[in-house]
Amino acid sequence: MAKLYFRYGVMGSSKTANALMVRYNYEERGQEALLVKPELDQRDGARFVASRAGLTHPCIYFTDLRKMTPAQLHAYACVIVDEAQFLTREEVRYLTDLVDEQNIPVICYGLRTDFKGELFPGSQELLACADIIEEVKTICWCGKKATFNARFDARGVVLKEGEQVVLGANDRYIGLCRKHWKEGNLGPQ
Ligand SMILES: [Zn+2]
Repeated sequence: MAKLYFRYGVMGSSKTANALMVRYNYEERGQEALLVKPELDQRDGARFVASRAGLTHPCIYFTDLRKMTPAQLHAYACVIVDEAQFLTREEVRYLTDLVDEQNIPVICYGLRTDFKGELFPGSQELLACADIIEEVKTICWCGKKATFNARFDARGVVLKEGEQVVLGANDRYIGLCRKHWKEGNLGPQ
């Protein structure tokens, strides 16, 4: 039976590199995995997924996925969704249908919580619905596991207020342990 996976981690935990490697592993075995991202996330350009380490691959938008017929979907051994925190609850429910009705495995990568420490709606639904929940780990500057995302401004000041979604990468966000996230402590550098 196919399963729905949610692999979560903080900013900078190599989730996208992980997603791209999984896609490549399918290719090596002579199978194709379909790479998908929410249309909201256009940091890497349209219909493209890029990791910090330099891996890139074309993808489709979630809205494209929704238009595919079962026959088109079955050309793929697996569906891989990057930045899954930006999905709506209803879109996550659609993914459970792909798993349950089409028997296609779906692997979602995303953040668990936003810069305020609150669940993204997509992540909340994935935590509720996924068959397998796994953590993609990385460390805070202090060496402890990073579990929270800090947003900071150009002066390096940690922000506690603002919109849930402000797109950015290493220049806006950093993964911290809970203690240093609460303190707003970005470390000695
Ligand atoms: Zn720390």
